[in-house]
Amino acid sequence: MKLPKTIEIMGHTFTVEEYPDSIAVDESLGTGHFMSGMIALRNGMSDDVKLSTLFHEAIHMAARATSLEMSESQISIAAIAAVSVHRAFGEVT
Ligand SMILES: [Zn+2]
Repeated sequence: MKLPKTIEIMGHTFTVEEYPDSIAVDESLGTGHFMSGMIALRNGMSDDVKLSTLFHEAIHMAARATSLEMSESQISIAAIAAVSVHRAFGEVT
């Protein structure tokens, strides 16, 4: 899956990059940094995991943009729902 170079989230532009496993500092699949406008995903994930992680990090950034406090579980559930909606569009013929 080819990732978008940037994503607009509520008026903020985020670059989307991949980073190699070798520089990963923990078990995270991705990370986002609101102030620097960056979302980074670990390299080498399956398309499903990559998409889910991108949704997850984008939801983190949207929560941050609105000062909404969301737990990791809430963000993960929202990302699962977003992936389901995305898949359903792919199944529309
Ligand atoms: Zn998270």
